[in-house]
Amino acid sequence: MRQSELVYKTYKEEPADEKSRNAKLLIRAGFIEKVSAGIYNFLPLGLRVINKIENIIREELNKIGCQELLLTNLHPKEYWEKTGRWEIFDALFKTKSKTGSEYALAPTHEEVIFPLVKKIIKSYKDLPVALYQINTKFRDELRAKSGLLRGREFIMKDLYSFHKNNEEVEKFKKLVDKTYKKIFKRCGLNAIETFASGGTFSKYSTEFQVPTDSGEDEIYYCEKCKKAWNKEIYKKDYCEICKSKLVKLKSIEVGNTFNLGTKYSEAFDLKYIDKDNKERPVYAGCYGIGVTRLMGAIVEVHNDEKGIIWPESVAPFKIHILDLKFKKGVGEKIYKDLIKNYEVLYDDRENVSPGEKFAESDLIGIPYRIVIGEKIKNNKVDIKKRSEKKYKEVNIKDIRKWLN
Ligand code: ATP
Ligand code: MG
Repeated sequence: MRQSELVYKTYKEEPADEKSRNAKLLIRAGFIEKVSAGIYNFLPLGLRVINKIENIIREELNKIGCQELLLTNLHPKEYWEKTGRWEIFDALFKTKSKTGSEYALAPTHEEVIFPLVKKIIKSYKDLPVALYQINTKFRDELRAKSGLLRGREFIMKDLYSFHKNNEEVEKFKKLVDKTYKKIFKRCGLNAIETFASGGTFSKYSTEFQVPTDSGEDEIYYCEKCKKAWNKEIYKKDYCEICKSKLVKLKSIEVGNTFNLGTKYSEAFDLKYIDKDNKERPVYAGCYGIGVTRLMGAIVEVHNDEKGIIWPESVAPFKIHILDLKFKKGVGEKIYKDLIKNYEVLYDDRENVSPGEKFAESDLIGIPYRIVIGEKIKNNKVDIKKRSEKKYKEVNIKDIRKWLN
């Protein structure tokens, strides 16, 4: 992609109405645009990151046999009355049609996936089933001042699994927990498996918490067991498993896994016929990952005073070529060669000072940088990683070797 054609805008100044580091940096670097508190547009750069994150999630979930679908976001009131959540779901956005019908703007999707699955699952032979989607959610959040960490509209991956009994749910939940760790690791984050309340059918639900001072949550972490307990449920000083002293950390919840038991199956009368011809309730689990929150968390963890430092796996581009325009045509040639194998952003702009190009490149945070400066007269360019301070002089013909 030529930077001269990329639709974006960067800002030297921090936005006055944002407190969080992720929103400040993502807005300044041209990834997102603020519409209102907790409501953002994603520009082409921002969408590239979202797509990368989503595809990592897809790859890992597909590997463990989950199937992707897409559920509606307009939920008839009756569905939410069946679970009793029309009145008690705190952050529910409600809307009315011209005909008087009322709807919820989906904050989560149990209310539509259970009725859907009820049409498909009849006997034990139809189980287990694991379905997920990557979709928009709406929540009327009161505290929407953490940028992408808490949106009123945000993207979530939600997975729902359906089983014959509680043991099968627990077994599958463990598999998802393992898969989540892989997903977060691939996204460049160390997410700590955290015991939390909210498990109706098991003692705990599991949260995945990324330690950072900007987090809203607090966890007690055991450095030895690499596990933690959410402060909301567990206020002890010592690890339940190994008795080591726990460390208090601020953190961001990027995902969670729940054993739902038969709660929603009962609400929607979701049953199956067992081997012995008996009717039994379906046992279920639900598993969320906040996709846009994850993007915000990555920025909170990976940045310096100059801007974002994207992990390679989720970066909008892999290579940023800064052409300082010392020799005509060379930048074009290097760019055209590298795009055969890499995602490249080529700063081909005329009449932009080198200083501005460097500053913008630091802000945007693409992992590898190739600077075509004065040394190009001797067929040399300067190369470095965004995360490194020092450049390395490389002959044009060795660029690929260096990248590999
Ligand atoms: P929180 O306690 O942070 O409000 P939650 O318990 O309401 O989260 P779930 O309803 O289980 O979260 O949603 C699953 C995932 O979606 C969360 O782990 C989080 O990563 C993400 N998430 C939840 N609410 C938001 C939001 N308002 N903005 C962005 N992501 C969110
Ligand atoms: Mg919430």
